Amino acid sequence: MGNTLQNIYQGTCPSCNKGKIFKKKGLLYKLRMPKMHAHCSVCKYKFEKEPGYFFGAMYVSYMLTIAGAVGLFIMLSYIVGIGDNFQIFLMIAAAMIGLSFFNMRISRTIWIHLFKT
Ligand SMILES: [Zn+2]
Repeated sequence: MGNTLQNIYQGTCPSCNKGKIFKKKGLLYKLRMPKMHAHCSVCKYKFEKEPGYFFGAMYVSYMLTIAGAVGLFIMLSYIVGIGDNFQIFLMIAAAMIGLSFFNMRISRTIWIHLFKT
């Protein structure tokens, strides 16, 4: 399990744990989406098994977003002590936009690792 988490964090192939899933990290300020390799460069594992395979990764992404928003809300409201909910909402929205590419990358990686065959 610890290895799986480490692989997800590093974005490596679920089969050999060596090849990278993504070619490049996306750059939000250039609006460049993260690009994936079609196959693992080390073991030829096919990442996108069929068209639309990553549709379900949106649910992972959604759950990560909710978990992140709830976590941020608790942190800003109770630990930082910001009383204004609207201000907190704006901060959360900004954080979610800032993390959206990272979120997409990590949710697809989790998806690949969940359904590795
Ligand atoms: Zn591989």
